Amino acid sequence: MRNYILDLITSKEEKQATIQGWIYRHRVSGNMAFAIIRDSTGILQCTIKKDKVDSKSWKNAEEIYIESSVIVSGKLVKDERAPGGYELQVSDFQTINNGEPFPISKDLSDEFLLDVRHLWIRSQKMTNIFRLRHHTVNYLREFFNSKGFYELPPPIITGSACEGGSTLFEFDYFGEKAYLSQSGQLYAEAYIFSLEKVYVLAPSFRAEKSRTIRHLAEYWHLEPEMAFYDWKQNMDLQEEMIVEVVQNLIKNHSSLLESVGQDPEVLKKASAPFERMDYEKAVERINELGGKMEYGEDFGADEEALLTKGYEKPLFVHHFPKDIKAFYMPEDPNKPGTVLCNDLLAPNGHGEIIGGSERIWKYDELMQRIEENKLNPKDYQWYIDLRKYGSVPHSGFGLGIERLVKWVLNLNHIRDAIPFPRTINRCYP
Ligand code: ATP
Ligand code: MG
Repeated sequence: MRNYILDLITSKEEKQATIQGWIYRHRVSGNMAFAIIRDSTGILQCTIKKDKVDSKSWKNAEEIYIESSVIVSGKLVKDERAPGGYELQVSDFQTINNGEPFPISKDLSDEFLLDVRHLWIRSQKMTNIFRLRHHTVNYLREFFNSKGFYELPPPIITGSACEGGSTLFEFDYFGEKAYLSQSGQLYAEAYIFSLEKVYVLAPSFRAEKSRTIRHLAEYWHLEPEMAFYDWKQNMDLQEEMIVEVVQNLIKNHSSLLESVGQDPEVLKKASAPFERMDYEKAVERINELGGKMEYGEDFGADEEALLTKGYEKPLFVHHFPKDIKAFYMPEDPNKPGTVLCNDLLAPNGHGEIIGGSERIWKYDELMQRIEENKLNPKDYQWYIDLRKYGSVPHSGFGLGIERLVKWVLNLNHIRDAIPFPRTINRCYP
């Protein structure tokens, strides 16, 4: 019977064991071979003595390549020097697939590693990143589920240029134009009329033409939508969500965080409350700090980095000018020209991770904004319809999973937050 490495190490029992996995490190020295074997749960040092195994096992152990797959049996014994404190003294060493020498060794370029991404994702660093990504998404789901939210899927294929913008991927849909969705929000809005609190978690597609360290052409988008929430309750929810995810990561996975280069102590500073700053004030601050921007412009990465300089936790910016935000965001009657929205900016230069707002819920107001934005009401008929039958005030937000992961893991580039990144210059492998 197969044993998982983590079970062996944590049971602290010296006993017979059989493991299955891959060769992580390998070295032969005279009549001894050393292999570190990994499975999905951990790594285990194995020693093979020529005179303690049959000739087939010795040949296998001697000739094995890095990353080859094996089944190895032996006696687990305590050894302080071994990783995890235990070593397997091998009695039988079988090769499942020895294949060819593994093409990834030390000091390879980023481009090469992206070319062999299908192999690189097995590295310890990538594996640990993806473990943490899994936990992050899990904590997000747990957070919303515990608050009575329902998860539903949005459509990925959308007809008509429903979302506007130059970043749509267009394709042929049985002779008609269709698009890959760049947000599930409008559909999430339709769900609140029965389920009230909902979220969609699906890929969004954006034909981002610029090469940045935080834009993907395909990313995972979490979009909660809540009936009867105003823009402040919306921010409260975002804050609570972020704090809960961060605290869970620190509490349960601090050594994993360290292994990918994040200091849990730094992350711990992301505690409530997060400062909430008006866009107007944010522009002033950016200019004070040596940036150059005018009221009415949107923030780029540089402005966001300046604005969050010295911050150890995320920062909300609210009340952006109407003209640079989406048509569905309501104007604040107390501050005409601005809308009831917020972005959430992560510290340490990571920048925007969330965009949220109240949604216009009144029919006339929505029609007026559709007209002002020169959109075709026909494209939005179903969405407008929602304002005719039992419409209610509501709010929601969009969180980029890879943006969140980039920040909480302190990654240099967003592409490492997803196994197979899609960017302007790459959709292989
Ligand atoms: P940015 O200004 O950074 O391009 P945006 O204003 O276009 O972002 P929204 O349309 O508000 O972003 O999307 C909601 C969230 O989705 C963002 O806060 C971000 O976390 C994420 N996001 C947006 N575009 C991308 C992208 N190209 N790659 C990865 N995540 C993205
Ligand atoms: Mg964008």
